[in-house]
Amino acid sequence: MRILVLSDLHANMTAFEAVLQAAKDRWDRSVCLGDVVGYGPDPNEVTAKLRELGTETIRGNHDKAISGVMVADDFNPIAKAAVDWSNSELAPDHLAWLTNLPRGPLTTDGIVLVHGAFQDEDEYVFTPAQALEGLLDSTAEVTFFGHTHHQGGFSYLNSKLEVLQIHPRMNEAFAPLRLEPPRRYLLNPGSVGQPRDADPRAAFAIADLEHQTVEFWRVEYDIAAVQQRMRKAKLPEALVQRLMVGR
Ligand code: ZN
Repeated sequence: MRILVLSDLHANMTAFEAVLQAAKDRWDRSVCLGDVVGYGPDPNEVTAKLRELGTETIRGNHDKAISGVMVADDFNPIAKAAVDWSNSELAPDHLAWLTNLPRGPLTTDGIVLVHGAFQDEDEYVFTPAQALEGLLDSTAEVTFFGHTHHQGGFSYLNSKLEVLQIHPRMNEAFAPLRLEPPRRYLLNPGSVGQPRDADPRAAFAIADLEHQTVEFWRVEYDIAAVQQRMRKAKLPEALVQRLMVGR
Protein backbone atom coordinates (compact mmCIF):
# COMPACT_ATOMS: atom_id res chain seq x y z
CA MET A 1 0.00 0.00 0.00
CA ARG A 2 1.55 3.27 -1.13
CA ILE A 3 -0.04 6.28 0.52
CA LEU A 4 0.07 9.74 -1.04
CA VAL A 5 0.36 12.17 1.89
CA LEU A 6 -0.92 15.70 1.22
CA SER A 7 -1.05 18.66 3.59
CA ASP A 8 -1.79 22.37 3.60
CA LEU A 9 -3.12 22.56 0.05
CA HIS A 10 -4.51 26.02 0.81
CA ALA A 11 -6.80 26.30 -2.20
CA ASN A 12 -3.93 26.18 -4.71
CA MET A 13 -5.25 24.05 -7.58
CA THR A 14 -2.26 24.60 -9.89
CA ALA A 15 0.12 23.23 -7.24
CA PHE A 16 -2.27 20.35 -6.49
CA GLU A 17 -2.45 19.41 -10.19
CA ALA A 18 1.35 19.45 -10.47
CA VAL A 19 1.55 17.15 -7.42
CA LEU A 20 -0.95 14.68 -8.89
CA GLN A 21 0.92 14.75 -12.20
CA ALA A 22 4.28 14.04 -10.50
CA ALA A 23 2.82 11.34 -8.22
CA LYS A 24 0.85 9.75 -11.11
CA ASP A 25 0.79 5.95 -10.73
CA ARG A 26 3.05 5.86 -7.67
CA TRP A 27 0.27 5.64 -5.04
CA ASP A 28 -2.73 3.47 -4.13
CA ARG A 29 -4.64 5.74 -1.77
CA SER A 30 -4.38 9.30 -0.48
CA VAL A 31 -4.65 11.12 2.83
CA CYS A 32 -4.69 14.82 3.72
CA LEU A 33 -3.54 16.45 6.97
CA GLY A 34 -5.81 19.48 6.72
CA ASP A 35 -5.85 23.10 5.55
CA VAL A 36 -7.58 22.20 2.32
CA VAL A 37 -8.62 25.84 1.90
CA GLY A 38 -7.53 29.32 2.98
CA TYR A 39 -5.01 31.77 1.40
CA GLY A 40 -5.37 30.47 -2.18
CA PRO A 41 -7.76 31.31 -5.03
CA ASP A 42 -9.31 27.87 -5.72
CA PRO A 43 -11.24 26.65 -2.65
CA ASN A 44 -14.01 24.94 -4.66
CA GLU A 45 -11.67 23.25 -7.15
CA VAL A 46 -9.32 21.86 -4.49
CA THR A 47 -12.17 20.64 -2.26
CA ALA A 48 -13.93 19.03 -5.24
CA LYS A 49 -10.74 17.23 -6.30
CA LEU A 50 -10.07 15.80 -2.84
CA ARG A 51 -13.67 14.57 -2.64
CA GLU A 52 -13.41 13.06 -6.12
CA LEU A 53 -10.18 11.22 -5.17
CA GLY A 54 -11.77 9.97 -1.94
CA THR A 55 -8.82 11.36 0.02
CA GLU A 56 -9.13 10.59 3.74
CA THR A 57 -8.89 14.10 5.21
CA ILE A 58 -8.65 15.55 8.72
CA ARG A 59 -9.41 19.18 9.44
CA GLY A 60 -6.90 22.04 9.72
CA ASN A 61 -7.33 25.36 11.49
CA HIS A 62 -8.18 27.14 8.23
CA ASP A 63 -10.85 24.55 7.39
CA LYS A 64 -12.34 25.14 10.83
CA ALA A 65 -12.26 28.93 10.52
CA ILE A 66 -13.72 29.00 7.02
CA SER A 67 -16.50 26.54 7.77
CA GLY A 68 -17.34 28.31 11.04
CA VAL A 69 -16.37 25.39 13.31
CA MET A 70 -13.96 27.80 15.03
CA VAL A 71 -13.97 31.60 15.37
CA ALA A 72 -10.95 33.06 13.54
CA ASP A 73 -10.11 35.41 16.43
CA ASP A 74 -6.44 34.49 16.61
CA PHE A 75 -5.89 34.83 12.85
CA ASN A 76 -3.87 37.82 11.68
CA PRO A 77 -5.80 40.36 9.53
CA ILE A 78 -4.33 38.99 6.28
CA ALA A 79 -5.28 35.40 7.04
CA LYS A 80 -8.68 36.57 8.28
CA ALA A 81 -9.33 38.42 4.98
CA ALA A 82 -8.62 35.17 3.13
CA VAL A 83 -10.93 33.27 5.52
CA ASP A 84 -13.82 35.64 4.77
CA TRP A 85 -13.21 35.55 1.02
CA SER A 86 -13.00 31.72 0.98
CA ASN A 87 -16.19 31.40 3.01
CA SER A 88 -18.08 33.61 0.56
CA GLU A 89 -16.73 31.67 -2.45
CA LEU A 90 -17.33 28.10 -1.33
CA ALA A 91 -20.32 26.17 -2.64
CA PRO A 92 -22.66 25.13 0.23
CA ASP A 93 -21.99 21.46 -0.47
CA HIS A 94 -18.19 21.88 -0.20
CA LEU A 95 -18.60 24.05 2.91
CA ALA A 96 -20.67 21.28 4.52
CA TRP A 97 -17.97 18.71 3.67
CA LEU A 98 -15.29 20.93 5.27
CA THR A 99 -17.48 21.47 8.35
CA ASN A 100 -17.74 17.72 8.90
CA LEU A 101 -14.05 16.84 8.54
CA PRO A 102 -12.83 14.77 11.51
CA ARG A 103 -10.13 16.06 13.85
CA GLY A 104 -6.80 14.33 14.27
CA PRO A 105 -5.19 12.16 15.52
CA LEU A 106 -6.67 9.68 13.05
CA THR A 107 -5.23 6.21 12.51
CA THR A 108 -5.46 4.76 9.02
CA ASP A 109 -3.54 1.89 7.40
CA GLY A 110 -1.01 1.83 10.24
CA ILE A 111 -0.12 5.53 10.14
CA VAL A 112 -1.38 8.35 12.36
CA LEU A 113 -2.48 11.69 10.92
CA VAL A 114 -2.49 14.98 12.83
CA HIS A 115 -2.73 18.56 11.58
CA GLY A 116 -0.63 20.32 14.23
CA ALA A 117 0.66 18.57 17.34
CA PHE A 118 -0.42 15.11 18.48
CA GLN A 119 -2.01 16.58 21.60
CA ASP A 120 -3.49 19.73 20.03
CA GLU A 121 -4.52 20.08 16.39
CA ASP A 122 -3.85 23.84 16.42
CA GLU A 123 -0.33 23.72 17.93
CA TYR A 124 2.81 24.08 15.80
CA VAL A 125 5.61 21.49 15.97
CA PHE A 126 8.88 23.25 15.14
CA THR A 127 11.28 22.26 17.93
CA PRO A 128 12.64 18.86 19.03
CA ALA A 129 10.95 19.37 22.45
CA GLN A 130 7.57 19.84 20.78
CA ALA A 131 8.19 16.81 18.55
CA LEU A 132 9.25 14.62 21.47
CA GLU A 133 5.87 15.05 23.18
CA GLY A 134 4.09 13.78 20.10
CA LEU A 135 6.51 10.92 19.54
CA LEU A 136 6.04 9.76 23.11
CA ASP A 137 2.24 9.95 22.89
CA SER A 138 1.70 8.44 19.45
CA THR A 139 2.11 4.67 19.44
CA ALA A 140 2.43 4.31 15.65
CA GLU A 141 5.74 3.79 13.88
CA VAL A 142 4.93 6.74 11.61
CA THR A 143 2.90 9.82 12.51
CA PHE A 144 2.40 12.51 9.86
CA PHE A 145 1.82 16.15 10.78
CA GLY A 146 1.37 19.41 8.87
CA HIS A 147 0.55 23.00 9.87
CA THR A 148 4.13 24.39 9.83
CA HIS A 149 4.48 24.10 6.02
CA HIS A 150 8.04 22.82 6.59
CA GLN A 151 9.02 19.52 4.98
CA GLY A 152 11.04 17.14 7.17
CA GLY A 153 10.62 15.71 10.63
CA PHE A 154 11.99 13.84 13.60
CA SER A 155 12.76 10.30 14.70
CA TYR A 156 13.07 8.71 18.12
CA LEU A 157 14.88 5.64 19.49
CA ASN A 158 16.22 4.73 22.96
CA SER A 159 15.30 8.10 24.49
CA LYS A 160 17.17 9.92 21.73
CA LEU A 161 15.50 12.31 19.32
CA GLU A 162 16.96 13.03 15.92
CA VAL A 163 16.06 15.92 13.62
CA LEU A 164 15.69 14.65 10.05
CA GLN A 165 17.01 16.96 7.38
CA ILE A 166 15.21 15.51 4.41
CA HIS A 167 14.65 17.78 1.52
CA PRO A 168 15.13 17.14 -2.21
CA ARG A 169 17.80 19.43 -3.68
CA MET A 170 16.70 21.93 -6.32
CA ASN A 171 17.62 19.55 -9.17
CA GLU A 172 16.00 16.53 -7.50
CA ALA A 173 12.33 15.50 -7.43
CA PHE A 174 12.43 13.48 -4.23
CA ALA A 175 14.56 12.37 -1.30
CA PRO A 176 13.92 8.91 0.19
CA LEU A 177 13.87 8.08 3.89
CA ARG A 178 14.50 4.47 4.94
CA LEU A 179 12.46 3.56 8.04
CA GLU A 180 14.30 1.54 10.67
CA PRO A 181 11.95 -0.11 13.18
CA PRO A 182 11.66 0.08 16.13
CA ARG A 183 12.67 3.72 15.54
CA ARG A 184 9.56 5.94 15.46
CA TYR A 185 8.93 8.88 13.17
CA LEU A 186 7.08 12.19 13.18
CA LEU A 187 7.11 13.39 9.59
CA ASN A 188 5.87 16.45 7.74
CA PRO A 189 5.26 16.07 3.99
CA GLY A 190 5.46 19.87 3.58
CA SER A 191 2.81 22.11 2.08
CA VAL A 192 1.27 21.60 -1.35
CA GLY A 193 -0.11 25.09 -1.73
CA GLN A 194 2.02 27.50 0.33
CA PRO A 195 5.51 26.19 1.23
CA ARG A 196 7.36 28.16 3.92
CA ASP A 197 10.70 26.32 4.09
CA ALA A 198 12.43 28.57 1.55
CA ASP A 199 11.67 26.22 -1.37
CA PRO A 200 8.69 27.48 -3.40
CA ARG A 201 8.08 24.08 -5.04
CA ALA A 202 4.92 22.20 -4.02
CA ALA A 203 5.67 19.53 -1.39
CA PHE A 204 4.18 16.11 -0.63
CA ALA A 205 5.21 12.61 0.48
CA ILE A 206 4.60 9.02 -0.54
CA ALA A 207 4.70 6.45 2.28
CA ASP A 208 5.17 2.72 1.70
CA LEU A 209 5.26 0.97 5.07
CA GLU A 210 5.53 -2.52 3.58
CA HIS A 211 8.84 -1.48 2.04
CA GLN A 212 9.71 0.81 4.97
CA THR A 213 10.24 3.89 2.87
CA VAL A 214 8.89 7.43 2.77
CA GLU A 215 9.69 9.65 -0.20
CA PHE A 216 9.72 13.42 0.28
CA TRP A 217 8.82 15.14 -2.98
CA ARG A 218 9.06 18.66 -4.46
CA VAL A 219 7.56 19.71 -7.75
CA GLU A 220 7.58 23.00 -9.63
CA TYR A 221 4.30 24.57 -10.69
CA ASP A 222 3.10 27.71 -12.48
CA ILE A 223 3.22 30.14 -9.54
CA ALA A 224 2.51 33.16 -11.77
CA ALA A 225 -0.84 31.67 -12.86
CA VAL A 226 -1.91 31.28 -9.22
CA GLN A 227 -0.77 34.80 -8.37
CA GLN A 228 -2.83 36.15 -11.26
CA ARG A 229 -5.99 34.46 -9.95
CA MET A 230 -5.25 35.71 -6.41
CA ARG A 231 -4.94 39.32 -7.60
CA LYS A 232 -8.16 38.98 -9.59
CA ALA A 233 -9.88 37.78 -6.41
CA LYS A 234 -8.32 40.74 -4.52
CA LEU A 235 -6.66 38.45 -1.98
CA PRO A 236 -4.01 40.25 0.16
CA GLU A 237 -0.83 41.04 -1.78
CA ALA A 238 1.39 39.60 1.01
CA LEU A 239 -0.18 36.19 0.34
CA VAL A 240 0.42 36.61 -3.39
CA GLN A 241 4.11 37.48 -2.91
CA ARG A 242 5.06 34.74 -0.47
CA LEU A 243 4.36 31.93 -2.97
CA MET A 244 7.33 33.06 -5.04
CA VAL A 245 9.85 32.88 -2.18
CA GLY A 246 8.35 29.95 -0.29
CA ARG A 247 8.31 31.84 3.01
ZN1 ZN B 1 -1.66 25.55 6.75
